[in-house]
Amino acid sequence: MDTNRYRLIPQTSELLKAAGVVNLSKRYAHEEIVAALRTVLDDVRRTLASGGNLPDFHSPAFGETIATVLEIQRRLNLRRVVNGTGIIIHTNLGRAPLAAVAIAAIEQASRGYVNIEFNLETGKRGSRYDHVRDLLVQLTGADDAVVVNNCAAAVTIALAAYAKNKEVIVSRGELIEIGGSFRIPDVITQNGAKLREIGTTNKTHMADYENALTSETAVVLKTHTSNYRVVGFTATPTLKQLKSFTTANDLLLIEDLGSGTLIDLSPFGIPDEPTVRQSIAAGVDLVTFSGDKLLGGPQCGVIAGRADLIANIRKDPLLRAMRIDKLSLAALEATLRLYLPPHDPTNEVPVLRMLTATPESQAPRADALAKQLNQISGVTAVAHSAKAEAGGGSLPAVELESRCVSVEVSGLGVQALADAMRQSEPAVIGRISRGKLVLDVRTLSDDDFDPIALAVQAVIK
Ligand SMILES: *Cc1c(COP(=O)(O)O)cnc(C)c1O
Repeated sequence: MDTNRYRLIPQTSELLKAAGVVNLSKRYAHEEIVAALRTVLDDVRRTLASGGNLPDFHSPAFGETIATVLEIQRRLNLRRVVNGTGIIIHTNLGRAPLAAVAIAAIEQASRGYVNIEFNLETGKRGSRYDHVRDLLVQLTGADDAVVVNNCAAAVTIALAAYAKNKEVIVSRGELIEIGGSFRIPDVITQNGAKLREIGTTNKTHMADYENALTSETAVVLKTHTSNYRVVGFTATPTLKQLKSFTTANDLLLIEDLGSGTLIDLSPFGIPDEPTVRQSIAAGVDLVTFSGDKLLGGPQCGVIAGRADLIANIRKDPLLRAMRIDKLSLAALEATLRLYLPPHDPTNEVPVLRMLTATPESQAPRADALAKQLNQISGVTAVAHSAKAEAGGGSLPAVELESRCVSVEVSGLGVQALADAMRQSEPAVIGRISRGKLVLDVRTLSDDDFDPIALAVQAVIK
């Protein structure tokens, strides 16, 4: 290779003076332009290395290339994603999309001031926890409830408040890891409590709890295996049995439900998700659950249960460190109101709407998307049904019948297609199955169809 050709690349300082680049200084900072120039020049060097030609540095086309890079640089890192995976509660894609009223509540709360800690009746200081307290009490049957910034925080606070320097009994079948290295055994020990694991992975009996009891025992922790299932030859005591045991021995029964559904999902083919109300009714002293899983609201965590226990938690300094922010609180209140008459949460809370959507209601949507994509030459799109895991880490072993569209682009491998779709704006994410890019309409809104078509079109050019 002729290394001298590299010398034909002008200095950055000189390129900054090129006509097409000078123009850009009206809209971009000097540092941004320099960074964009470096990116483009790297490209030019690669072109030269592979035997290509130098661009005309003073042409409008060169200026346009720099402008495109600048635009990409200015894109927000946190961007819109079209979720074609069919996984409704997708932690990596931000979990629950919010209902329109929740978005409106965030907008209102963020635009100006709100009475987050101000009592409008008395004109005195109020509590941020009061805004959703009555709603949570009504929807769960608990005496009282507080909200923190996620369920991990809710578990941490509950254990720190009631298990410090004491023993916590947990079944080996429930020593879960939630992801992002949040592991129940670690959470227990990090809060200064001692873990007493009992039973086996598949079977734990009441006798195991009884045998583990010492003068140090303070809490029986039950965790909902919300991201996996132990199936087959299994046994675990009921909440009622555990409650008798904890009452007889003056212990607390704390349950980490995680997914936290407020309504019974069994009519919709999801049989194993206990409702928060069921746990409270069974006598659980404190229940913790997420706001952005099956509840379908913003990221937050709820601790619900006995009034005296919650009153104590309200005074805990940890609560201040993990408190919910005003925007999430606004969205949570608006979401919770959708669970009250005359609303139908399975229609109005997006997570529940997607979860309960029937294949019949989705079929025309898949057909419409396939039709739209087939209008692009070089594209073959086929609508079909598929069983898909709808929950990601939230509904293990629940496979729902979905309608999907498989996309192929002639002359382009499926991985290259998936990569290009992911790089488009908005990013489009599907799953690869049997050599095709599959988009599941369960997690797509009709508004996503045009961006998908534009992304496919851009791939073809
Ligand atoms: C998801 C989950 C958590 C953590 O909830 P975040 O809101 O993500 O902090 C805790 N416990 C269980 C059982 C869960 O499923």
